[in-house]
Amino acid sequence: MGRVRIHVDGIVQGVGFRPFVYTLARELSVSGFVRNTAAGVVIEAEAQPQTLAAFADAIRSRSPALARIDDLRCEPIAATGVRGFEIELSTADGPRRTLISPDTATCPDCLAEMADPADRRYRYPFTNCTNCGPRFTIVTGVPYDRAATTMAGFAMCPDCQREYDDPADRRFHAQPVCCPACGPRLRLVDAARRDVPGDPIDATADLLRSGSVVAVKGLGGYHLAVNARSDEAVANLRSRKHREDKPFAVLMPDLEAVRTWCEVSPAAAELLAGHRRPIVVLPRRQDVQLAPALAPGNDHVGVLLPYTPLHHLLAQAVGAPIVLTSGNVSDEPIAYLDDEAATRLAGLADAFLTHDRPIRMRTDDSVFRVARGRPQPVRRSRGYAPEPITLPLDCPRPVLAVGAELKNTICLARGRQAFVSHHIGDLENYETMLSFLDGIAHFGMLFDLVPEVVAHDLHPEYLSTKYAVDLPGVEVVGVQHHHAHIAACLADNGELGPVIGVAYDGTGFGSDGTLWGGEILLADLSGFCRLAHLEPVPLPGGAAAIRAPWRMAASYLQAAYGEELPPGLDVARRNQALWDPVLAMAARGVNAPLTSSAGRLFDAVSALIGIRDQVNFEGQAAIELEQSIDRSETGSYPMRVRDGLLMGSDLVRAVIYDLGRSVPVPIIAARFHRGLATATVQAAATAAQDTAMDTVALSGGVFQNAVLLDLVVDGLERAGLRVLTHKQIPCNDGGISLGQTAVAAALSSAAAGLR
Ligand code: ZN
Ligand code: ZN
Ligand code: FE
Repeated sequence: MGRVRIHVDGIVQGVGFRPFVYTLARELSVSGFVRNTAAGVVIEAEAQPQTLAAFADAIRSRSPALARIDDLRCEPIAATGVRGFEIELSTADGPRRTLISPDTATCPDCLAEMADPADRRYRYPFTNCTNCGPRFTIVTGVPYDRAATTMAGFAMCPDCQREYDDPADRRFHAQPVCCPACGPRLRLVDAARRDVPGDPIDATADLLRSGSVVAVKGLGGYHLAVNARSDEAVANLRSRKHREDKPFAVLMPDLEAVRTWCEVSPAAAELLAGHRRPIVVLPRRQDVQLAPALAPGNDHVGVLLPYTPLHHLLAQAVGAPIVLTSGNVSDEPIAYLDDEAATRLAGLADAFLTHDRPIRMRTDDSVFRVARGRPQPVRRSRGYAPEPITLPLDCPRPVLAVGAELKNTICLARGRQAFVSHHIGDLENYETMLSFLDGIAHFGMLFDLVPEVVAHDLHPEYLSTKYAVDLPGVEVVGVQHHHAHIAACLADNGELGPVIGVAYDGTGFGSDGTLWGGEILLADLSGFCRLAHLEPVPLPGGAAAIRAPWRMAASYLQAAYGEELPPGLDVARRNQALWDPVLAMAARGVNAPLTSSAGRLFDAVSALIGIRDQVNFEGQAAIELEQSIDRSETGSYPMRVRDGLLMGSDLVRAVIYDLGRSVPVPIIAARFHRGLATATVQAAATAAQDTAMDTVALSGGVFQNAVLLDLVVDGLERAGLRVLTHKQIPCNDGGISLGQTAVAAALSSAAAGLR
C-alpha cells in the first residue's frame, strides 16, 4: 500500500468538490480523507500505487462542472493502514488562497425539484445546491462557510441539515442550502411598503401584465422590470429612469423564445444557456416588431435567460419577455440594500418583489456580444467575478490596480492570479466611489491580500488615480492608458509580447499630456513606444465635445479645409447657434486640447452625415454609425499614413465629397469604416515590419465595433500577421485594471531581477 497527500488549488470549494472526491474514493476503494483548507483542498489517499495514480487522474478529468483545478500536487507520505474514507471538517489556518466561486445559474436538478408538486422545494424561489446558486454576492468572509455568508441568519431545518451533512447528497456542505421551512421568503410590497395579498410571483406577474414597473430583488441588486411587449410600459420606465435611449435588456423564458425575436448563433446559444448567464447582445430578427422604446435606433437587443429560481418562476408566470434593467436612476450604481432600494427606487417602481436574504456585494449582470463566432465580453461581472485570470508572468509582490474612470473595475493580484472585480461603474458620483472603496477592501479580505504595489492611470483627475497616489506605504506605478489596454489584451491571451498594439478608444491621458486614443504602439508588459497615431485635432470645449459629436465634425472640417469650409453643410445649419464659436475655439486652440482619439473621429463622421449630433451615452454616435452600414458596399475611402500619422481628415474630405453627390448614408458609413480599417492595417503592418514583429494586439473600446474589428483582423491576417483580441475581459476600460496589473507585475519582476 502507498499513501499520498494531494494538494488541489483552484475553485474547489462551494462547488461539490469534496463529495465528488468522497464518491470517487469509495468507488476506487481508496482510504483516507478530504478536507478544505484555507488554500484549497487537501486529500490523503491510501491504496495500491496504480489505484492512487488512477485516483489522481480521475480527480483531474472528472471534477465537478463548476470546479476549476489550477494546480494538483502529490507528495508521498507514510501509510497508516487506517481503512475507510471521510470528509473532515474545514480548518482555517495558513494563508488564505481559496477561490470564491462566482454566482451560478440554477442547475437542471434544482429546476426539476421546483417543477415537482411532490417536492418540498416545489416553486421555492431560493432553491440551490452545491452545483448552483448564489456565491460571490452573498459571501461576507472566509473561509467559505455558511456563517460567512448572508445566509448566516437562517438556521437550517432538520431536512436541510440532513442533506447538508450527507456526503452522498447533492447538497452536502452547500452553504446557502435552504427550503420553504427554513430559508428566505419572498414578499411583494406596494410603493407604500404594504404587503400585496396573494402569491408574490403571481401577483407580480399580474402587475407586469397590466403595465406596472416592479422592482425585483435579484442576485446582485434590484432590477426594474416591465412587460417588454408593451411600448407604453417600456416608455414609462424610460422616462422614470431618465434613460433616453440606452438599450434595455430583456429576460426571456428560454432559448426558443429568444429565437422568435433574435438571430441566435451557436456561440450565442451556448453563452445564453450556460451556467454564467450573461446578457448577450443579439441582432434582432427583421420580421419581428419589438416595442420601439426597448432599444431605440438599435438593430440589436440584449437578451438573457433566467439565472435564479426567482427569475425562472417570474418568466414562467408572466409568459412573455420582461425588461430587466438595473434598479437605479441613470448613471447611479444599482441599488442592492433593501432600505436603499426603497428610497432610491421610490419614484421609479410601483411595487417591490423583495426577500430577506441580504446581498453583500452589488453585482451587475455581465454583457457579451458574439464577434467572429466567439464570445466577446462587454462587461464582466455577475457569473464571472471573482474568478481569477491567470497572468502570463509571476507577480512577485501583491498588486492592486485601480482601473480607469469609466466602466471601472479594480484588480488584485498575487503570483499568477489576477482577481478582476465585478463592474464597479463610472467613478463620477459618491455612490460609485463608495463601491470602489468597498470593492478594494472586500477583495483584499476575501483573498487575504495586502497590496505592496498600486498601479493607476496617468490621468491626474481620475478619482482612481487620486486614491492611488494618496495611499501610504506602497509603491505607486503610473501606467499609460493605451499601454494598459494593450497589456490587458496580452494578459487576456496569456502572452508577454512584445507586439504591435493597436489601441483605439474614446480618450486616455497620453505620456505627452495630450489626449490619446488612436494609437499604434510597440509594447510588451514592461514598456511601450508610440510608433503611429491618428492625426491630432482639437477637442473644442473638452468634455462638451464628447457629449456633442457635432463639435468634432466642426473640428475635423477645420483640420481638413482650414478657413475655407465647404458651403451649405447640414451639420453647420443644424448647430448654427454655436457653430462659429466652436470653429473659433478649434482654430485658436482655446479650451480645445488636442486629441488623437479614434472614437472622436467616429463621432465627427456620425454628425457630418446627420446620424447624431448629441449623445446620451458613451459610444452612441459610433454605434449608430456602425449600424447604418450597407454591408454590401465594397468601396473604401483613401486615408494616408505618413510619418506615423493616420490622416483622419482625409476620410472627412471623402465623406464631404460623397455627401455633395448625394451618396446614401449607409454607403458613406461603409466606405468610412473600410477606409479606416485599411489604413489601420497598413500602419500596423508597416510598424510590424519596421520592428520585426509578427503579432498585433487589438484593444480599446472602439474595437467593440464588430465591422471595424472584422475588417482589421482580416486585413492583418492577410498580411501574414497573428492577431490577438479579447476573450475574457472587455476591450473597453473595464479591462484597464488587468492591464495595469500586468504592467506592474512586469516592472516589479524586472526590479526583482535587478536586485
Ligand atoms: Zn442546483
Ligand atoms: Zn430547510
Ligand atoms: Fe480606454
